[in-house]
Amino acid sequence: MELKGNDLSLIIERVLKELNERDTKKEVSDGVFDTMDEAIAAAYEAQKVYQEYTLEQREKLISSMKKALMENAMSIANLCVKESGMGRVDHKYLKLKLVAEKTQGTEILRTEAYTGDKGLTLVERGAFGVIGSITPSTNPAATVACNAICMLAGGNTVVFSPHPGAFNSSITTMKVLNKAIREAGGPDNLLTAVAKPSLENTSMLLNDGRIRMLVATGGPGIVKMVLSSGKKAIGAGAGNPPVVVDETADIKKAARDIILGCSFDNNLPCIAEKEALVVGDVYEELIKYMKENRAVYEINDDQADKLVKTVLNQDNKSGKYSINKTFVGKNAKSLLESIGESAPDEIECLIYRTENCHPFVQLELMMPILPIVKTKNFKEALKLAVEDEHGNRHTAIMHSKNIDNLTEMARKIDTTIFVKNAPSYAGIGFGGEGYTTYTIAGPTGEGLTNAVSFTRIRRCTMVDSFRIV
Ligand code: NAD
Repeated sequence: MELKGNDLSLIIERVLKELNERDTKKEVSDGVFDTMDEAIAAAYEAQKVYQEYTLEQREKLISSMKKALMENAMSIANLCVKESGMGRVDHKYLKLKLVAEKTQGTEILRTEAYTGDKGLTLVERGAFGVIGSITPSTNPAATVACNAICMLAGGNTVVFSPHPGAFNSSITTMKVLNKAIREAGGPDNLLTAVAKPSLENTSMLLNDGRIRMLVATGGPGIVKMVLSSGKKAIGAGAGNPPVVVDETADIKKAARDIILGCSFDNNLPCIAEKEALVVGDVYEELIKYMKENRAVYEINDDQADKLVKTVLNQDNKSGKYSINKTFVGKNAKSLLESIGESAPDEIECLIYRTENCHPFVQLELMMPILPIVKTKNFKEALKLAVEDEHGNRHTAIMHSKNIDNLTEMARKIDTTIFVKNAPSYAGIGFGGEGYTTYTIAGPTGEGLTNAVSFTRIRRCTMVDSFRIV
């Protein structure tokens, strides 16, 4: 059939329109899908492309993600606090900065080699494929950013399932990262999610065969759920970090460090000091130094009783307490205001002298209230610290100059993170050595997760060759 000039120009016009539409469609693909099935399918297809990427190419994407994170850190921090009503903008910003500066990428993926008379065996770190990452409301942006970097460094793609209470913050972070990936020449949909959160969507994520690994960063419920899924799962669960102070500590520094750690992001971090066990000899001195800090306010029994009735719920039948989520991550001033007390703006932390059985000690409050318990000696402080940690194996802190005491606590408390003579956050690399993460896997043992945690070990053996001696 002969084509006339007119037909030809119509065909060209149509082809150009289609190409243009395809490009436009590509530009708006930000990883957010209407259904979980679509989100998983997109990440699944993207992983097929991404698995061809060299380590150098992965690093290029990660650099771009980190740069974009820094550029958007302040606006994301603002969004997190505005949306969730929890935490502090200045500290959320610092958390995001820490992710950009101290999250490890592909450099941690080291190959092992065994050589001998029989040749060479290589052990390398391969991708799982698509990972389902369930993220918390208490740290909605930094968890997404840090997991995204580590999981992509491991060669995976990710479907996120963020907490509904801070959904927009998590999704905005993900979109910023996807844009950075695209700008660095990477494929679309390395990171995906569903436009609206629902328990059904999370349940689909847990059960879909295309998801090869699940990572839950949150409370005990969701950790248990992923561990029961039948898939390879990493559980990063709750903590209730005790801080012990013995008579040999630099008490002035201990007072400062404990308040800094306890009030960081209004005590939202799972690693933050949640209760202090202090040896009797230095109890008054520690509290005296704490109160010299204008950010500290000591509450009395009456105020504490009112706070218990306000920030906790009590079950009528069992009498057991649980936290009232309305007050999680609220600042110290508003906690005081909730019981009809006024306080100056600079108040950041409420301290309370109490017994070890008090619910403020026993519950993971995630509010800037520090219960302080007096103990007879170090042995008793350590015994109570172990009880209060509830076997979470999460985080503990100690202030001491006695090497034997420090060593004994490190061994007996058996936590994933143990910080000596610093605020708790030194344990995730903020003012301390080492890389950072916001997915601290105590229950499943990966510890402070990095790219290695999100890889599978693969072995390749060549017999009788490639040995050079
Ligand atoms: P959460 O357990 O309420 O929620 C965590 C995630 O699990 C959210 O995405 C939520 O939507 C999902 N989820 C919870 N229950 C679910 C269910 N029944 N079905 C489907 N999905 C469900 O936790 P949170 O309040 O957002 O975060 C605070 C908790 O997380 C604290 O206990 C804190 O210690 C812990 N945390 C731990 C780490 C760590 O690295 N270990 C880091 C941050 C927070």
